[in-house]
Amino acid sequence: MISVQELFFKYFRTVTILSLRYLVFAGILFLLFYIWKKRHFFRFKIQQKYPDNKHVLREMGYSFLSIAVFGAVATTMFTLRKHGYTQVYTNFSDHSVAYFIFSVIAFVLLHDMYFYWTHRIMHWKPIYPYVHKIHHLSTNPTPWAAFAFHPLEALIEVGIVPIMMFLMPIHPYAILIWVLYQTGMNVIGHLGFEMYPSGFTNGFISKWNNTSTHHNMHHKHVTSNYGLYFNIWDRLLGTNHPEYTKQFEGTKTRSKEMEGEAGEVIGTFAK
Ligand SMILES: [Zn+2]
Ligand SMILES: [Zn+2]
Repeated sequence: MISVQELFFKYFRTVTILSLRYLVFAGILFLLFYIWKKRHFFRFKIQQKYPDNKHVLREMGYSFLSIAVFGAVATTMFTLRKHGYTQVYTNFSDHSVAYFIFSVIAFVLLHDMYFYWTHRIMHWKPIYPYVHKIHHLSTNPTPWAAFAFHPLEALIEVGIVPIMMFLMPIHPYAILIWVLYQTGMNVIGHLGFEMYPSGFTNGFISKWNNTSTHHNMHHKHVTSNYGLYFNIWDRLLGTNHPEYTKQFEGTKTRSKEMEGEAGEVIGTFAK
């Protein structure tokens, strides 16, 4: 039996780790792109303006609220695992290395599918205002928006973790790799700057990977570009924004045009 103290300790530890992970990933990129190298990177800014500080603070506040929800789910799953209700295995020798790699890939691909479909459902008008609207208060998102959800949406977002733990044998390290990958990709999606090279959205392989522009356009235009890691579901179902590649290349072309005169242009927008 797990004691209340142990549960509290587990919850506190999980929330601390998740908060640090968020602060490191979002914090470093925010400092780099929005403060330290603001002038240098401005030419890569997808929307040529910066959000007000109050929007950034709102994104941070909701992200920490989401982390509190993630921690509660993680603690519940920890308890269920201890009682043998999940398929989590801790002995590496229980499964092969090939299976471990397969489980990480399966986690990422299934999460990509889960995200696309739950995201589309959350855009359904009767539920949109109560679940997903908070995330869309950021029309020009920063890395801090990565977890800026209504608590109900936070619950849906983290839902993939219990699903995976019940669905197939999975090692805690496979979950950890997924956690780091999804945090990194989420933060890049909300970065607000496009750093991938010109031609990326048309490349034979690279076009299947989503970009910062892709999710930035979702925040700006709302009813297109629903995908997370990959551009598979949006392509299959025709929900990519028709101007996606044009907007992506526009940022890249503008970047070139602005070289040399960037200082003056940035000055217009610098706060
Ligand atoms: Zn959305
Ligand atoms: Zn978003």
